[in-house]
Amino acid sequence: MTRTYDLQVHTDASPCSNAAPEAVATTAVEHGLNGIAVTNHDTLEGVNAVRTAAPAELTVIPGVEVTTSQGHLLALGVDEPPAPDDPVAVIECVHEQGGVAILSHPFDRLRQQYDTDLGAIADAVDAVEICNSRCLLSRDNDRARAFAHAHGLPTTGGSDAHFPMEIGRAHTVVEGDRPLLNALETQPAEVVARGRGGYFSGHIATKAHQLRESVDRIAGFAPGRGHGR
Ligand SMILES: [Zn+2]
Ligand SMILES: [Zn+2]
Repeated sequence: MTRTYDLQVHTDASPCSNAAPEAVATTAVEHGLNGIAVTNHDTLEGVNAVRTAAPAELTVIPGVEVTTSQGHLLALGVDEPPAPDDPVAVIECVHEQGGVAILSHPFDRLRQQYDTDLGAIADAVDAVEICNSRCLLSRDNDRARAFAHAHGLPTTGGSDAHFPMEIGRAHTVVEGDRPLLNALETQPAEVVARGRGGYFSGHIATKAHQLRESVDRIAGFAPGRGHGR
């Protein structure tokens, strides 16, 4: 049995995304995915909305993309969002909750990246995202792949979709009938990351989204973000 998951999807519960939960669920099914992880920035919000919108055949994995003191970290299968902290502390918090911790676009030079304590982080983490479709520089995904292989870590792919059109651009293929999170933890050979990075269109959509929000705010149509409201 082969199943395909996109392990990093944002919804409009992230300030930088306008993806409605219904559109996320519909697009994931249209793109032939068996499941998605809903991973908004530092919050579990959005997970239940996608679950409600999803048909029974689409697995919805609860997740958070945690902002650590270095790079971003995907916390899958957690009940509470880990507090932003140093990477090893965040990973420990994920494990205390029985979740799976995955380094998210770990060496993306255009976004937050990991640059110190890499050995300790590799020892603690469960897997490394080596295909992130929003990594514009393919060498950054290549470096993540080399890091995972050097440390014997399982690899994953995720689109990092902030808009529905991006869903499935990178994904994780799981062979066999073991549950996904289980397969990730103990059977690296069953998990294959596929897809490619370097898609500009997602970033362009993000800029357009930010511009629209700014215009709305200036025009008094929408509550400001980052103003304590
Ligand atoms: Zn974002
Ligand atoms: Zn990220």
